[in-house]
Amino acid sequence: MTYIVMDLEWNGAYTRKTKGFFNEIIEIGAVKINDRMEPVDTFHAVIRPVVSRKLSTLVQDLTGIEEQELEGGQQFTRAVSQLRKWIADPDAVVMTWSTTDLMVLLENCRYFLGREQIPFMKRYADLQAYCQERLDYGTAQQMGLSKACELLGIPEEGMDLHRALDDSILTGRVFARVFEPVTFSRAVRPADREFYDRLTFKTVIISDINDENVDREALSFRCEGCGRPLRRTSDWKFRSRAFCAEFLCRSCKTKYTARVQVKLKYDGPVTKRKLVVKAPESEKDKREEKRGENGAPAPAGV
Ligand SMILES: [Zn+2]
Repeated sequence: MTYIVMDLEWNGAYTRKTKGFFNEIIEIGAVKINDRMEPVDTFHAVIRPVVSRKLSTLVQDLTGIEEQELEGGQQFTRAVSQLRKWIADPDAVVMTWSTTDLMVLLENCRYFLGREQIPFMKRYADLQAYCQERLDYGTAQQMGLSKACELLGIPEEGMDLHRALDDSILTGRVFARVFEPVTFSRAVRPADREFYDRLTFKTVIISDINDENVDREALSFRCEGCGRPLRRTSDWKFRSRAFCAEFLCRSCKTKYTARVQVKLKYDGPVTKRKLVVKAPESEKDKREEKRGENGAPAPAGV
């Protein structure tokens, strides 16, 4: 089995072709790893950008790449065909640290090759997700490459961070340390139609309360104190990417604010619910509320 760990650098540029932002790849680095988890070869290509010759300061600061260096680079199309030849094994598992690099690669394959898939990739594994699973890091936050190196005691000294080749070599070292055949085989995905559909699927946050993906039951709540069903006292409003409404427990008079967020993901809707007790109002607020209800000052002693 051949394992390919790949890393890319890119430059954000506006393109008139699609009238939008495009992440143009300017460098590809990769390391080839064998069954014994030994690095056996490396690949490096500098790509001359054509959409924008001008590098953003962000990219210059992050990578240290100079526009001059890119002038001597090659065409993306040519770099990809060289990479394919270098990989040689058509069944190789290709890996990147998170799917961000993969998305950018796909974007470039579309733009320059007019292809809807990555030509040299039959099987893929997201090394970041796999590493997180192996290190019991949880899924709440994404683990950076530096964090993984730190946790595994892999030294970063002498490495040119945020340059494609050195980053791919570091990522390859991380892979060699966390690799375990059974769990890894489950992390490998065939790069088929569903794979690309999933990769390019854009999660949508539902903003219409009457949308079919909003589960009616997710919109009712029970009192956290006495367990009785709450009564909604306001309309549902969509704000800060979620539906919000006020609720009242008629039994214990507790007031709540409810927040329901519905995200439509590739596998279907995912609903998150949150109920927060409203801070008790000051005596003055209460009096004013009463006055408002009755249209007259509250009776003394209330
Ligand atoms: Zn209650």
